[in-house]
Amino acid sequence: MDPKTLKKIEENLLAEKKRLENQLSQFAPKEGSEAYEVQFPQIGDKDDENAAEVDTYSTNLALERTLRNSLRDIEAALRRMKEGTYGICKYCGKEIDQKRLVARPVSSACIDCKKRLTQEA
Ligand SMILES: [Zn+2]
Repeated sequence: MDPKTLKKIEENLLAEKKRLENQLSQFAPKEGSEAYEVQFPQIGDKDDENAAEVDTYSTNLALERTLRNSLRDIEAALRRMKEGTYGICKYCGKEIDQKRLVARPVSSACIDCKKRLTQEA
């Protein structure tokens, strides 16, 4: 893969990682080095306020899960870059199409394998 494109993808991944971490830290401050803890919001003590707290909390939990999954994909992609296996399909070992990687930098499978897997699923 052409190093310029690879560099560009790495920059995008790092920027996206930062954005996700920022978003997470707004409602789930980082504790320790790895974990994010979703904070139970304090809106008020009235019944409707309590209900709103529970609503916000469950929305945040779902959002946190999505963000954390995206972060994990990005971190895995960055790790593959470091190890020199980035852009190689984890199923068949062939190079993943560069266009696919530019469109979806966290891809770890080529289009053929992805298709095969989703058809089987
Ligand atoms: Zn493949």
